[in-house]
Order: sequence, then C-alpha cells, then structure tokens
Amino acid sequence: MKSEKIGTLYIVATPIGNLQDITLRAIEVLKKVDRIAAEDTRHSSPLLKHFSINKPSISMHEFNERERLKVILEHLQQGESVALISDAGTPLISDPGFHLVREAKAQGINVVSIPGPCAAIAALSVAGLPTDKFTFEGFLPAKPEARRNRLALLLHEARTMIFYEAPHRLLSTLQTMMEVFGGTRMATVAREITKIHESVLTDELAGLVSHYTAREKELRGEFVILVEGIDEEASVSKEVIPEEVLDALLEELPLKQAAALASKITGERKNVLYEMALAKKNK
Ligand code: SAM
Repeated sequence: MKSEKIGTLYIVATPIGNLQDITLRAIEVLKKVDRIAAEDTRHSSPLLKHFSINKPSISMHEFNERERLKVILEHLQQGESVALISDAGTPLISDPGFHLVREAKAQGINVVSIPGPCAAIAALSVAGLPTDKFTFEGFLPAKPEARRNRLALLLHEARTMIFYEAPHRLLSTLQTMMEVFGGTRMATVAREITKIHESVLTDELAGLVSHYTAREKELRGEFVILVEGIDEEASVSKEVIPEEVLDALLEELPLKQAAALASKITGERKNVLYEMALAKKNK
C-alpha cells in the first residue's frame, strides 16, 4: 500500500474473548495494511494466525508509547498504512494509543476507526441499568484510600458509572462502593463477557458483596463493574450541601482528608470546611 501520499492509521477493535466477534472489516484492514502496531505482539499472534494475517509488527505498550509513536509516524509519513490493535477490544479504551492518535492527527494523518468489541459497552448493553447517560471511569486507583476518594467524588453522579477492575480487587472495590454509595444502590458485575465462564449479575451492592464474598476463592477472569447513578428526582434534595457531605466523609476519613475531599466535591473552600470539621470534633 505504499504511495506518494501519507498513509492511513487504522484503529482496529479486536475480540474481548470470542474470536468470532472480529468484524469482516477488521480482517480486511489487518490483511491490507503494511504494518500492525500491537500492544503485545506475542499476545496478538494467536489472533492474527487464526485469521492467516502475517504482517510486520511493532510493539507499542503503555510504557513505550511515546518512543514508539515516532517510529510509527515515520512509517505513516512515508506512505505506509498502519493498524493499531490492543490485547483485546477497542484500542485507547483503558489501552495505549491516545498519544499516537493525537500526534497523527496533528501531523495531518488520516485516522480511521474500525469499530468492534469493547467490554464497557458490551457490559452496559446487558446490565439492565440506565443506558441513556453513562460515564466510563476506567480502572480505579489501586491504593484503597485513593480508590475510596475517587468513588467519593462520584457520590452525586446521576449517570450509570462503568469501571474496569482486576479480579483480585473486585471484592474490596465492591465493599468500598457499598460503603460510599450505600448498600441499596443497584449495580452489575459482568464477568468474562463472550467467554465460557460468562456471567452478568445485577443486584443491590449489598447483594453483590455477599454473593462474591461467598465465592472469594473463585474470583478469576475479567470484570466490568457498573453502578447506577443517583436518582436525581427521587433524592430529597438536589442541592449539594457542604456540611452534609463533610459529615458523611468524617464518618470514614481523618479530619483533614475529609475536609479536602468535601471541598473538591462541593466547591466550598477547604479552610472553611476544615474549621467546620474542627468545630464538630471539639463539640
Ligand atoms: N480495550 C479494552 C476494551 O475495549 O474493553 C479494555 C482493555 S483493559 C486493559 C482490560 C479490562 O477490560 C479488564 O481488566 C476488564 O476490566 C475489562 N475486560 C476486557 N475483556 C473483558 C471481558 N471479556 N469480560 C469482562 N471484562 C473485560
């Protein structure tokens, strides 16, 4: 596909488990490009072999993206076409590629989407939670305190929230979600979508915690967690009252941290909330 013109960068989605989910167009594009940039070339090799695709490859993962993108852009500038794939699903969705796409567009390179599977959208489509508005939160921080803080910032989120989570953190994340959002908030755990051990469970957070606590030793595979947003109309007050937020956070966090987080959530000044928290403590 070499030509005088600049090449095209294709962002190609691949299956998230079941190989039959690859699209006809993805196969066609992977067969015609000059080069495939893959997150992990060893990981992608069975997929490419399965569809008899044999192309020069470049590895581009989270840790070498900025360095590798220069090489990929050079190939594109020389008129080659390149397909970017990740280990599974849609590239750039909790996967590398953002810097490459941004730079390619800045250089006037044509970037074309070859859409297909994405675990977040697949899970949302079968969760039974509202789909009219949703927010993709990706992976939560690994450290428990940072994870709790991130969730606390979502306390008033009205859209369905979608999270990716590692199996060894699933249960503790569900427990923290229950503490932050309350045990009656509806949520879904979608496991191993399109694979043999696929399961999708929608229940109140308290129900999910007890279900997975009983199965703690079997927690293997890949998981998407979805949490329903707050019901804005049913909630007594739509207004975020700084003192109420502070009170809730003081039950879980040290004073300084509670004040800082309440300030982030409500927009109230940190020192005002800190003084308020001190006054409550000294009451
Ligand atoms: N780019 C991918 C996509 O489009 O979904 C996501 C890549 S991210 C590094 C991997 C995470 O996606 C997993 O830890 C899991 O949370 C989720 N995931 C991927 N495949 C999945 C599947 N088959 N079932 C459930 N979750 C999956």
